[in-house]
Amino acid sequence: MEEALIKLSPSSATDFKSCPQLFKFRSVDRLEEPVSAVQARGSLVHVALQRLFALPPDERTPQGASWVLDEVWAELSADEEVRPSELTEAQEREWLDESRWLLNNLFQLEDPRAVSASRLEWWVEYELVETHLRGIIDRVEERADGDWILTDYKTGRVPGEARELTAFFGLRFYALVCWRAFGVMPREIRLVYLSDPAVLTLAPHERMLLAFEKQIVALSAAIRRALTTGDWRARPSPFCMTCAFQTMCPAWAAVPSSQAEGPPEGGP
Ligand code: SF4
Repeated sequence: MEEALIKLSPSSATDFKSCPQLFKFRSVDRLEEPVSAVQARGSLVHVALQRLFALPPDERTPQGASWVLDEVWAELSADEEVRPSELTEAQEREWLDESRWLLNNLFQLEDPRAVSASRLEWWVEYELVETHLRGIIDRVEERADGDWILTDYKTGRVPGEARELTAFFGLRFYALVCWRAFGVMPREIRLVYLSDPAVLTLAPHERMLLAFEKQIVALSAAIRRALTTGDWRARPSPFCMTCAFQTMCPAWAAVPSSQAEGPPEGGP
């Protein structure tokens, strides 16, 4: 990470918010971690959706989606970022079937033939007070009246009501980048949950994005402080049980492996 500029994507910002030590492992030390079946399924489904919406509208059918998935898997099955680690052949078949089921659920939420996507998997960036915001927006629709709709696909479950605004963290991040970099306030941001399936929407406005911008500036300042002091607080939570860095995490150093069945004391 450059000293002068803190580089933040929605996922790295979320890492720091949830556990500064996790952010350090991933974004400062840049340690590798195995690809879980859940992460790999998310990557595969995202690539398949990108291909689906690049097809002529009348080919964006459930059969077309299934064909696209097979095509993407044939191309990417050797790619370690897409192929899950440690799956047996039978588990891999089940995993592919789940990916197909997720893709198929999209048709319960919208008719892909009617969607006019202007940009797919669009890389965006903006420099904000010593902070470089960057990331990839899954889908942007630019409507005839000039309105922008940003869509983010999710393969996990819909959050409870109390966590809805948190779930929009990534899309508020992208709405801020669109507003600052292109002068466009998106009309709507949409979270498309393929497993439930369900769509959550939010209409960004100036006050919301100004408050979010302050939050990002404060987050960036906290990261800069941690870089200077070396104080990366480990914040144990139930997520530790799936964290790839648990064995090297200071929060777990004093816990015998036989007792590592829940977060150590100090966690929620
Ligand atoms: S094991 Fe828990 S506390 Fe340690 S880095 Fe991972 S998430 Fe943070």
